[in-house]
Amino acid sequence: MNSTAAALPEALRGKRQLGDGEAFRFGCHPGVPCFNRCCADVNIMLTPLDVLRLARRLGLSTGEFLARHTLAPITKDLHLPVVMLRMGDDEARRCPFVGERGCTVYDDRPWACRMYPLGMALPPARAGADPEPVWVLFEDEFCHGREEASEWTVARWRADQKVEEREELETGFRDIVAHPWFIGGRQLDPKRIELFHTACYDLDAFRRFVLESSFLRRFEVEEGLVHELESSDEALLRFAFRWLRFALFAEPTLKVREPHSAPRRTP
Ligand code: SF4
Ligand code: SF4
Repeated sequence: MNSTAAALPEALRGKRQLGDGEAFRFGCHPGVPCFNRCCADVNIMLTPLDVLRLARRLGLSTGEFLARHTLAPITKDLHLPVVMLRMGDDEARRCPFVGERGCTVYDDRPWACRMYPLGMALPPARAGADPEPVWVLFEDEFCHGREEASEWTVARWRADQKVEEREELETGFRDIVAHPWFIGGRQLDPKRIELFHTACYDLDAFRRFVLESSFLRRFEVEEGLVHELESSDEALLRFAFRWLRFALFAEPTLKVREPHSAPRRTP
């Protein structure tokens, strides 16, 4: 086993890895005999953007969405908590969002659903090197999409599935998960793990933390940004990653306010 293979998560080991420009065949549409077969009994890890978009789509707060629709498995191999989509309680364990005609949350479906049959792993952080994603192809027996004629590369599939427009926020998250701080197996303490979970996944709670606690008295926040944090989920998530880089890894991404200086809050 080579070192890249050894670094892949269990679920991706042994899968065909796809290099830049390498093609695969795939097509998915209501005419395939397996239509909706993949939307049951499946482990779908949610990114912070997935949680946010699905919560807004369903008209739920992020806290309500997390409580109703996710699981947070405890795994000793993981250095940070993950959030998984909770499948239904029926025998087939169908995804709560699958309907007769396919995915009922299609425009806001999770990153993992968009990218299937591709999966991605980030190798462990190395000093001085940005982690290069490793792409693998799922070749599940049940999936007849592999028999379709359309040919794709990773880049073309990503463009087709509209993941590129989400890329900045997805990368902001990956940069924290694969941060060089973790080199050598360093572990965050429970308080910082909780900070990570709130800032990444429970964005409504993070908004309250920023706007309703002593946060703005303690940190310099640029003029105009406070208003943006009140009204824009994307701006808040971007700020959450900035805050985490400060709070978890002691990066100078935020400045502590001088004592007695007034908070800069726009009207
Ligand atoms: S979110 Fe949509 S695409 Fe993903 S498993 Fe559920 S129904 Fe299928
Ligand atoms: S199993 Fe494959 S081809 Fe069938 S619906 Fe799912 S992704 Fe599409």
